[in-house]
Amino acid sequence: METAGLVALALTLGFVVGAGLATILVIAARSGRRMVAAQSAALPAGIEAVIEVLEIPAVLLDPSGTPVAASAGASDAGLIDGGVHPEVLAIADQVRAEGETVRRELALRRLGRPDQVRHLRMTAALVGARYVLLVADDRSESVRLDEVRRDFVANVSHELKTPIGAVSLLAEAIDSAADDPAQVRRFTARLGEEARRLAELTQDIIELSRAQGLEPLAGSDLVRVDEVVATAIEQNRVAAVAKGIEIASRRPKERLLVLGQDAMLVTAVANLIANAVQYSPERSRVAVGMARRGDDVEITVTDQGPGIPEEEQERVFERFFRSDPARSRNTGGTGLGLSIVKHAVAGHGGSIRVWSRPGSGSTFTIVLPLAEAPAAPATHERATA
Ligand code: ADP
Repeated sequence: METAGLVALALTLGFVVGAGLATILVIAARSGRRMVAAQSAALPAGIEAVIEVLEIPAVLLDPSGTPVAASAGASDAGLIDGGVHPEVLAIADQVRAEGETVRRELALRRLGRPDQVRHLRMTAALVGARYVLLVADDRSESVRLDEVRRDFVANVSHELKTPIGAVSLLAEAIDSAADDPAQVRRFTARLGEEARRLAELTQDIIELSRAQGLEPLAGSDLVRVDEVVATAIEQNRVAAVAKGIEIASRRPKERLLVLGQDAMLVTAVANLIANAVQYSPERSRVAVGMARRGDDVEITVTDQGPGIPEEEQERVFERFFRSDPARSRNTGGTGLGLSIVKHAVAGHGGSIRVWSRPGSGSTFTIVLPLAEAPAAPATHERATA
């Protein structure tokens, strides 16, 4: 009775002050055995109300396995999936049979949706006589991130293998052609090309990791959108001239400011322009626009290139996705450009979308929240500055 009372008191206090998970797990762990001896048939007063306001997934089952109380997160985590999930019921049965707290890692498949798996670290303990309280630490997001990281490392290794293999073959070829200066020059040129590709890939990997690590608005400055666009165009000038492509842009009517990191925003816009130039035919036109739309600013990059098939329009933002790997590799793309744009823009609280029709070209649109310009400094401050 005393322990149950303490549990109730601690639960109420602990959860109300927001230390829900830690408190309940500690209590469950400490009281696992003792509770069996000291428990009463009654539930700790107010426990249902406490569970229902919890942010973590939690459910309290009565002796027949019927839920008496559940937190809102219990359904999201799959503890309650129509009824109580059979795997959750099985843990509750084990707790009742053994009379001890049970901790278990679960990969819970949603009923009727076997592709949806929640990765839960469950703790289940007896409460009252034969009631069982189950709380879950939902680790699905961190498991997903681990998988993404593993995939990324595998992809990077794969992408590096081709140019590294080529470098070593070319080195051998140069060695065996030492007496033939024309051959040596040819192989050396290709060696330079592979080295350039490796440098580009490494640079893109660094940019991507920077863009992914962006803390929204951390280290932010007020950035002028027209200056970002002008710098991004300048960075692509040589490539555009080489293909006889004109890059047109018009100054916006008003001064557009966003809060963020200048260099990252330039990289994002420059990547879109680089693609527009890269995938467009010679002597075509690329247009870069910027305009205010309500509380946002939109930066658009439009080309007259081949366009992107509808089924690929979502996928082009994935890392290492290339519509035509062979062709894209020839044009020197790493497959990371749009992924960098997506993360850079998301890190600024914005988004990116594409409109495209095969044969008619593509328009990529970056949307960023507008920032308010600070009030102009007083005249005398300027005079003393
Ligand atoms: P890449 O380095 O291959 O250009 P991106 O992430 O920048 O990588 O682009 C991914 C793929 O999306 C490209 O390989 C290409 O197939 C397609 N793509 C991107 N921009 C355009 C565009 N403006 N026009 C046509 N296809 C494009």
